Amino acid sequence: MGKVLCVVIGHKYILTQKVSNNINEYCCCNCNREVTNDYSVKLEVLIAKMRDVNATLSSFLEKTKIAKKTNSLFINI
Ligand SMILES: [Zn+2]
Repeated sequence: MGKVLCVVIGHKYILTQKVSNNINEYCCCNCNREVTNDYSVKLEVLIAKMRDVNATLSSFLEKTKIAKKTNSLFINI
């Protein structure tokens, strides 16, 4: 039923993962279709390769944030 609803009224995406300021992952709450956006804000079906890229990017950005916090602590001391 969910897929029929999506065909008629379109997908209803909810944010499932914030990867970066520009890239997020979404899931349709009706049919569970997973998508991600690229830098042009165009939604693409979330395939395993894109999930890996997003996970790597998210991990890299998290490490960068931690490094910045650590550096700022050293500066404040
Ligand atoms: Zn849907």
